Amino acid sequence: MSASPTNSTGKYSVFAIAREALRLHSGWKRAWTSPEPKKKYKVVIVGAGGHGLATAYYLGKNFGITDIAIIEKGWLGGGNTGRNTTIIRSNYLQDPSAAIYDKALKLYEGLSQDLNYNVMFSPRGLLMLAQTEHEIRGYKRTVYANQLQDVATEWVTPHQIKEMLPIINIDGPRYPVLGGLYQARGGTARHDAVAWGYARACSAMGMDIIQNCEVTGVETENGQVRAVNTGKGRIECDKLAMIVAGHSSVLAEMAGFRLPIESLALQALVSEPIKPCCDLVIMANTVHGYLSQSDKGEMVIGGGTDGFNNYSQRGSWHHVEETVRALVETFPMLSRLKMLRQWGGIVDMTGDRSPILSTTPVGGIFVNCGWGTGGFKAIPGSGWAMAELVANGRPGALAAEFGLNRFKEGRFIDESVAAGVAH
Ligand SMILES: Cc1cc2nc3c(=O)[nH]c(=O)nc-3n(C[C@H](O)[C@H](O)[C@H](O)COP(=O)(O)OP(=O)(O)OC[C@H]3O[C@@H](n4cnc5c(N)ncnc54)[C@H](O)[C@@H]3O)c2cc1C
Repeated sequence: MSASPTNSTGKYSVFAIAREALRLHSGWKRAWTSPEPKKKYKVVIVGAGGHGLATAYYLGKNFGITDIAIIEKGWLGGGNTGRNTTIIRSNYLQDPSAAIYDKALKLYEGLSQDLNYNVMFSPRGLLMLAQTEHEIRGYKRTVYANQLQDVATEWVTPHQIKEMLPIINIDGPRYPVLGGLYQARGGTARHDAVAWGYARACSAMGMDIIQNCEVTGVETENGQVRAVNTGKGRIECDKLAMIVAGHSSVLAEMAGFRLPIESLALQALVSEPIKPCCDLVIMANTVHGYLSQSDKGEMVIGGGTDGFNNYSQRGSWHHVEETVRALVETFPMLSRLKMLRQWGGIVDMTGDRSPILSTTPVGGIFVNCGWGTGGFKAIPGSGWAMAELVANGRPGALAAEFGLNRFKEGRFIDESVAAGVAH
């Protein structure tokens, strides 16, 4: 557990900082507790990533359910939540997607205030580059769809893009910039802070966050969940929410059902810090490259997924080369930068590139997965919708279309243009 400052009243404020400065910072409390698990909880959530923590938070806030354990095999936020490139946007094509992603974006806009924790939300504007004729058609279609969904996005010309972003080369021989899909409300947030902010709020409501505790088995009786077996013993529960991203199939197998999920490594890298030169988030989906500049000045770069299923959390080298080579044509100044770090996370891909928020064949077990390469932006909206599903035992309007049965009934929510490889 990391110690992070809470004042004695539990509320962060300018007065708390001043008071702690005067008493040499001796009064800060830990941000969340690390208790031993109890024998039984009303709700057990497996996975203390953003989606698991947000689900717990909105179960407490919106439904008054606080008898909850959030069980994490590593450290909270140590999965994809702490490994992503933090892009936030809601410019999806299909109506159910626009609804849940825009709900998330609206919640992000007030999240620091709601959690009393600075998640460093930075709506600096997001630009998806069209570098093929196919992308022009796809993105223009998305702009029209977004207008109908009340999600403000616009088509911008190459000339406008050059004005917005002087470091870009719009005349590349292989990948000329032909226009772009722009969402002014898009941006980034600090990924760790999102996990920490939710964790602190959950802990303050009396929920137990149990780290370093792997779930190794799920006990069911007469088609109903009874308990989970963990590294810290057996824990009974009335309801179980599996929210473990790339490990969803592993958890589902423990409970005796299968999920239409493929697990793939997706990777990112950062450069050495440089002076501010890029105040937009850029996505170049044709070349599988994403770019933004962190507050420290590093260029944060995301690549594509590996072409084979794996759980390696590293990503393969040829992707680094591919991503950087392609981005250098559009951003020649990158060629002179040193790359500092590279890492990977295991993303959970569905066939239609849309998430699953669903009941399952086992009574009392709910699943939230399939966010693939783009679930960070969805965390608040997903938590909100999942809390509704777990509390009521059936989905509300936001989650209604994202059930598992869509794969049986052929009601796919095709987001291959908006989310096939994009964040
Ligand atoms: C390199 C990369 C870049 C990305 N970029 C973006 C981006 O720019 N924008 C965006 O919106 N999304 C992005 N994503 C996707 C995003 O990170 C994920 O969709 C999101 O973080 C998923 O959150 P989660 O809470 O579902 O999963 P996670 O954060 O992975 O949390 C799941 C947790 O479950 C735990 N767990 C697994 N098995 C068990 C078990 N048996 N017992 C107990 N605990 C278990 C794991 O340890 C993990 O902490 C990116 C992902 C990667 C890897």
